[in-house]
Amino acid sequence: PLILGLESSCDDSAAALLRGREVLASVVKGQNELHAEFGGVVPEIAARAHAERLDTCVEEALAEAGVTLQQVDAVAVTAGPGLIGGVLSGVMLAKGLATGLGVPLVGVNHLAGHALTPRLTDGLAFPYLMLLVSGGHCQFLIVRGAQDFSRLGGTIDDAPGEAFDKTARLLGLSQPGGPSVEARARAGDERRFRFPRPLLDRPGCDMSFSGLKTALLRQRDQLIADQGGLHAQDVSDLCAGFQAAVRDVLTEKARRAIALYLDEAPSEPALAVAGGVAANQSLRGSLQALCAETGVRFTAPPLRLCTDNAAMIAYAGGELLAAGVTHDMSLSARPRWPLDKSAAPLVGSGK
Ligand code: ATP
Ligand code: FE
Repeated sequence: PLILGLESSCDDSAAALLRGREVLASVVKGQNELHAEFGGVVPEIAARAHAERLDTCVEEALAEAGVTLQQVDAVAVTAGPGLIGGVLSGVMLAKGLATGLGVPLVGVNHLAGHALTPRLTDGLAFPYLMLLVSGGHCQFLIVRGAQDFSRLGGTIDDAPGEAFDKTARLLGLSQPGGPSVEARARAGDERRFRFPRPLLDRPGCDMSFSGLKTALLRQRDQLIADQGGLHAQDVSDLCAGFQAAVRDVLTEKARRAIALYLDEAPSEPALAVAGGVAANQSLRGSLQALCAETGVRFTAPPLRLCTDNAAMIAYAGGELLAAGVTHDMSLSARPRWPLDKSAAPLVGSGK
C-alpha cells in the first residue's frame, strides 16, 4: 500500500510517501530560523508554522513521488509525544485527509517511528537493541515488535544533544552544537581537562548529562580568571574532554544494555543507533568497537532518517496497519506517550 506519513511533533514539519520499504518521497521543513532568536523552540510559533507548512510538505511529497493524493491507501500521523499544538496540526490534517480519501488513519508514537527506522533502512529482525540519542531523548530500548518495546534506561536529566548545544553556547560556538563541538574536538586533547563520568558507579542503564555542563562552565571560568580569556586550543581541549565524557558514558551504559539484551538470546543480535547525536563520529567509533567485541551487528540509519522525518512515521504506520491497527476520528494528540507499556498504560484505541 501507498502510505502518506505526517510529522509535526517538534520543530520539523514533514511529509513522506512510502510503499513498503521504498521511500518515494521525504520532505522535511525545519524551523530553526523561526526559533533562533529565542534560544529554543517556542511552542506557539511551532504550532502556527506546522499549520501553515504541512499542506505544502504533502504537495511537495506527492510531486516528488509522482503520485496523486487519490492513490494514497492510508494516512499515518505522529500522535505524540511532543508539543501539543504541533501534534494537533498534524492529527487534524491527517483526519481530514483520511476522511476525504476514505482510507484508514493510523496514529503513530514518534519514538516508535525512531525506534523502527532500522527496519526500514536495514531490515533488522526483532528483537534488536536501540539507542535513541538526540536533542530531546536518550534511552536504550529492546525493540521486540512494532508495539512491543522495553526501556532499559535513559537520561535522568538532559539529553546528550542538549548538552552538546549548551556546551557550544558556553564556548561561543555555532548552533546546533553537536557538529561545531565535534569539529573543534578533532583538534583537541581529551585528557587535558577532567570531566566526570556520571552514574557509572551506579548499576543499570540510567544516565545523567547535566553535570558535564557544570564541569565545563567551571573549567571555562577558571581559564578566563587565570589568563583573561580562552585560547583556540582551550576551546578545542574543552570540546574534546566534554565529547569524550559523553562518549564514555554512552558506551559503558551500552555495554550493560547489550548484556541485558543478549540474555534474550536474539537470533541476529544487533544494536541500532538513531537521533541526531548518532552522527557523532567519536561515539559511533566507540559503539562500533563495543559491538565488534560483543558479537553484535552495529547499524546506524543515514542521518536524514535518524533526525525527525515523516518517512519513519509512514513506515511505523505501515507496520501497525499490517498488524491490524487503525484509529478513528477519536484519535487524540498526546503530549506524553511513553513507549514502554510497563512504564505507563497505553490507550490502544487512541482515545
Ligand atoms: P528529538 O528528535 O528527540 O525531538 P531533536 O529534534 O532536537 O530532538 P535531532 O534532530 O534528532 O533531535 O538531533 C539534533 C541534536 O543532535 C542536536 O542537539 C545536535 O546538537 C545533535 N547533533 C547533531 N550532530 C551531532 C554531532 N555530530 N555530534 C553530537 N551531537 C550532534
Ligand atoms: Fe525525534
